[in-house]
Amino acid sequence: MNNFEFKNPTKIIFGKDEIAKLANEIPDNAKVLMLYGGGSIKKNGIYKQVKDALSVFDIVEFAGIPSNPEYEILMEALEIIKAQNITFLLAVGGGSVIDGTKFLSAAAKYEGETPWDLLAQRKPVFNGLPFGTVLTLPATGSEMNGGFVITRRETKEKLATGGPALFPQFSILDPQVISSIPQNQIANGLADSFTHVLEQYMTFPNQSLLQDRFAESILQTIVEVAPVIMNDATDYDAAANFMWSCTMALNGLIGQGVSQDWAIHMMGHELTALFGIDHAQTLAIVAPSHYRYNIESKKEKLAQYAERVWGITEGTIEEKSNAGIEKTEDFFHSLGIKTKLSEYTEDYENAAGIIENRFIERGWKGIGEHGKVSPGDVATLLR
Ligand code: NAP
Ligand code: FE
Repeated sequence: MNNFEFKNPTKIIFGKDEIAKLANEIPDNAKVLMLYGGGSIKKNGIYKQVKDALSVFDIVEFAGIPSNPEYEILMEALEIIKAQNITFLLAVGGGSVIDGTKFLSAAAKYEGETPWDLLAQRKPVFNGLPFGTVLTLPATGSEMNGGFVITRRETKEKLATGGPALFPQFSILDPQVISSIPQNQIANGLADSFTHVLEQYMTFPNQSLLQDRFAESILQTIVEVAPVIMNDATDYDAAANFMWSCTMALNGLIGQGVSQDWAIHMMGHELTALFGIDHAQTLAIVAPSHYRYNIESKKEKLAQYAERVWGITEGTIEEKSNAGIEKTEDFFHSLGIKTKLSEYTEDYENAAGIIENRFIERGWKGIGEHGKVSPGDVATLLR
């Protein structure tokens, strides 16, 4: 196991009707900006629960943060933060609203020329406006980590950064919020969280016995609850296990002391930026090809995964590792998620070349756990 330092300061408040506790978590004299998305919270009653819980606070609202939160829109919220001397941000939404809020937290304290620099230069963020979250969609783990991803419409870029200042002070996780999520978004949440685990797990074996088993247990739990929650989003026990799995998949714990990959996300972000394909769908497109292309360096771990997560005990390492990739693809299909770019857009022919050039321009010489997946490899595996 590699050396590591691990601190996760986010307080989790988990369970039925816990949104009512919101007021206890926000400083008494705070001037709060509540941020949310396109309005689902007004239809499913979460908006009312939040407002009722915060009736004693001075609250300003900013609605309309879209999926794949856009820099251009967030800059409007930044003006409000500055003009109204906001002291606390409250994200009520899924990964997009939470990531947008993290960007605003950082941007409000940023002293450089333009806050886009935070993303373009991948500057770690050590100073931010305090914020908390009410999670409405389990998927990203953003509710308990310090990372965020922002899209710039103007240049069709989607970039990520983060830092120790960008962990939420608290996140409220009430699994009942899942009951109103459309089935395709539940599928996205299952696929995104599953891939988050894979990105931290599918490297070389025997780095940490415990982190491996943490990771495998999350994968197994996601596989077990997927058909239940897809079939009935009001099943509380399935919802609770789904929600907590998504948080645990990306709160730092399973990635400590082991090498991490993240190439699937880096390539997937480009597909969202170019074609507007949902984040989780892009991961399902890229993951199988990434593993097939890099099978030599990943086959031992793929075989372990096939054995422990999917119960494949027969065959050579090569056979098991291939079976593990097939099981992964089958899992995405079982969620109704297609795994070929050509099934999402007719415009796919040039995508690999465009992405290769972008990686070269950014100086990304090699991605993946060994930094050896070159822009040329990226183009080949995407093709
Ligand atoms: P999302 O974009 O936040 O939300 C997707 C859709 O679900 C929205 O249309 C939203 O509608 C709706 N929705 C949310 N909660 C709902 C509920 N309870 N009932 C009904 N509808 C609901 O989805 P996401 O997958 O959570 O976030 C994706 C973003 O996170 C991407 O930009 C991705 O790159 C990023 N991401 C971040 C991390 C990280 O660690 N920070 C990791 C992975 C991915 P409304 O807008 O109307 O509310
Ligand atoms: Fe993700």
